[in-house]
Amino acid sequence: MTEERALFIIFGGSGDLAQRKLYPALYGLYFQGRLAKHFAVIGTARRPWTDDHYHEVVKQSLVGAPGSAHQKTEFAEHFYYQSHDVTDAAHYVTLQKLASKLNLQYQLDGNRIFYMAMAPRFFATIAEHVKSEQLLSPDGYNRLIVEKPFGRDYASAKQLNDDISQAFSEEQIYRIDHYLGKEMVQDIMPLRFTNPFLENVWSNQFIDNIQITLAEDIGVEERAGYYETAGALRDMVQNHIFQIIAMLTMEKPSRYDATAIHEAKRAVLAAIKPYTPAQVHTNFVRGQYVGGDNLGLSYREEDNIAADSTVETYVAGRVDIDNDRWRGVPIYLRTGKKMPAKTSRIDIVFKPTKDNILPTTGNAPVRANVVTLIIEPDTGMHITLNGKEIGVSDAVSPFTLDHALDKDELAKAPEAYQRLLLNILEGNKLTFTHWDELAASWHFIDAVRNVWDNDKADGLAFYPSETMGPKQADELLSRDYRTWIWQGK
Ligand code: NAD
Repeated sequence: MTEERALFIIFGGSGDLAQRKLYPALYGLYFQGRLAKHFAVIGTARRPWTDDHYHEVVKQSLVGAPGSAHQKTEFAEHFYYQSHDVTDAAHYVTLQKLASKLNLQYQLDGNRIFYMAMAPRFFATIAEHVKSEQLLSPDGYNRLIVEKPFGRDYASAKQLNDDISQAFSEEQIYRIDHYLGKEMVQDIMPLRFTNPFLENVWSNQFIDNIQITLAEDIGVEERAGYYETAGALRDMVQNHIFQIIAMLTMEKPSRYDATAIHEAKRAVLAAIKPYTPAQVHTNFVRGQYVGGDNLGLSYREEDNIAADSTVETYVAGRVDIDNDRWRGVPIYLRTGKKMPAKTSRIDIVFKPTKDNILPTTGNAPVRANVVTLIIEPDTGMHITLNGKEIGVSDAVSPFTLDHALDKDELAKAPEAYQRLLLNILEGNKLTFTHWDELAASWHFIDAVRNVWDNDKADGLAFYPSETMGPKQADELLSRDYRTWIWQGK
């Protein structure tokens, strides 16, 4: 196992993301041997913590992780804390001194990873100071990690991108979309491009429609402040769902590398034309959950949510790709809170067989084949096929081939953040979002958002918690003589 050498500088080292995701993920790499002697972490935040206290915080974040207390202590000793106000230039000078010292002490080859684990409004200031106070390492690499949300519309995303680009080139910027780190999302390329029986039917000639569902069973929980300014469209569709669409529908990249894959994704996203206001009304549905007896609170009753909030907790929509491969194949998407179960899945629905000559029970039409990728909570796929009913009957009957990823292997597989951090250390940008992809998805989302913002509450449909969302989401498909494949639990 090769050991990676790097200094991590985490802006927001006392925050939720750092403690819940980053420290366990870094520890996972340490436990795996990918980080060993030659790494160090500087955590910065406003609070005046000592290194000893910081070590305790780091160890606390590892409760339940494998390994001995001794291993965890050794790991935590690679962490250094600096109280830091991101707007104060002097603090970057101290940071640069500490970074240089740790570079020598741990022999880090000048490799630096800057992690923005703070609210995006600080990114411009951080990038500006990183450059002006010469925190960029002259030898080794400099990589910048940016979390979602990347903007709240095209204009703010562009501004954010311009801001960070003052100090970092596109090549050095890693924009995280943690869905790209999920096992079954990473499985899309091998499934599509190494199985001729799928690859050869992956087009409008054989596929009838594609359905993408990212359903949550929880409500807004502690994210009220952010969610009220975002809503489901920005929170889930702009990033995760558009990235899944791109992976499913891009042309075969010319090579298996990040540049070729980004180019293929960019091209297909550019073929999704932003809707006119009339098309938004026809093709997009938004909803908000309503509680009741045994259903918990309504969205508007949750803590820190406006009593007249028009923020959507549910979105369903139809997206069309204007290119030769996909013209005429609707992509239906939906995401929502307080749905009956937590499920992320993709259903690829094929066209039914033509001119069936075989008997079916009650003369029902032969079922269409469906390839389903289950992203979570289970991980695997189903293929629905048709065969003969068992016994004397000649009738055609559907059956399902199920493939569940091996649970023991999965348990050993790294968590999404661990995999993403490893990709960053290796300089592998396959699982990150290029600016061009973001720009294209924001253009589409802005067109929808603008209509909704003008309409305010008009068109916001309320749905009871623990249901599949507003009936308008079913009508989106039924008007095309189709139905959602996933109907709940
Ligand atoms: P948080 O509020 O828990 O942490 C913010 C951190 O920034 C803290 O360490 C705080 O001390 C520091 N900070 C704030 N103002 C500062 C200042 N002026 N100078 C120096 N430090 C300052 O936030 P979080 O949940 O950890 O989220 C961080 C980022 O990651 C956000 O952009 C968020 O959208 C994104 N994100 C978080 C999660 C998650 O699971 N928490 C998931 C996806 C994306």
